[in-house]
Amino acid sequence: MRLVDSHAHLDMSEFDADRVEVVRRAFAAGVASILCRADLTRPESLPAVAGLAPEFPTVMAAAGVHAHQAKDFTQDHLGELRDLAARGAIRAIGEIGLDFHYDFSTPEDQRRALRSQLAFAGEAGLPVILHSRLAGADIIAAVDEERYRGGGILHCFTEDWATARAMVDRGFFVSFSGILTFPKAGKLREVAARVPLDRLLVETDSPYLAPVPYRGTGRRNEPAFVVETARVLAGIRGLTLDDLDEATTRNFAGLFPFEKTGGQC
Ligand SMILES: [Zn+2]
Ligand SMILES: [Zn+2]
Repeated sequence: MRLVDSHAHLDMSEFDADRVEVVRRAFAAGVASILCRADLTRPESLPAVAGLAPEFPTVMAAAGVHAHQAKDFTQDHLGELRDLAARGAIRAIGEIGLDFHYDFSTPEDQRRALRSQLAFAGEAGLPVILHSRLAGADIIAAVDEERYRGGGILHCFTEDWATARAMVDRGFFVSFSGILTFPKAGKLREVAARVPLDRLLVETDSPYLAPVPYRGTGRRNEPAFVVETARVLAGIRGLTLDDLDEATTRNFAGLFPFEKTGGQC
C-alpha cells in the first residue's frame, strides 16, 4: 500500500513532543508523502515542518495566512512568501481561503487575504491549498476574479457537488478528510462518489478530525490514519483499497512530483 496524506498540520504544538515519531509511523503504515501546511502568522510554524525535511524528503511544506488569521494579513506576508518561493522552501501557497462558519476574521478581511495570496500564487507559478467552509460560491468567485489558473487542492471538502464540479473544471483536486467516515456524512459521500477519479485526494487534516474508528476516542489524529478515509472512499467508489491508493497517490504526484525531486522543505 502506498498512500498520500495531502493535508496535515504537523506544525502544531500537538505534535511538538513526537513529530518525528508521528511521521515514522505514517511511513511505516504505507504513507509515501505528506503535505504540511504552515501558518505564516506563527513564527514557529514553518520551521517545525521544515525541520522534518532532512530525514523525510517527501514531507512537503506549504505556507500562507489562513482565513481565521486573515485579519492579521499584511503585505509583509507576501514578501515572506516571495522569499520562501524563491528559495524553493515551499511547494504551494496555503492554506488560504474562506471560513464563514467560524468567522474569526471578517468576510472582507478573509476575501482580501485570499485574493492577495491567490494573485501571488499565480505570479509565482505555485499551486494553492484552499480551505472553504460555507463559502463555496465565494471561493469560486475569488478564483475567477483573480483569473487564477494555477490549480491546487480544495482541502477537507465539505461543500456541495456544484462547488466540487466548478473547482474540478478550474483544474483543482478535491481532497476528502476523515469527515467522510462520519455516520452523518451521507451527503458528502454522495459528492465523493461523483468527483472524477483523476481529481480525488485523501487527507487527515491532523490533528483534527480523526476518522472512524478513532473518532470519539480522544485520540489525536495523525497521518497514519489516512488509510481509514481511503478505505471508506474506496468503498464508495467500488474500488479496492489498492486501486484507490494508487489513483490518489498518482494524482498527488502529478501536482507535487515527489519521487525524483524529494521534498525540498
Ligand atoms: Zn482547512
Ligand atoms: Zn488545514
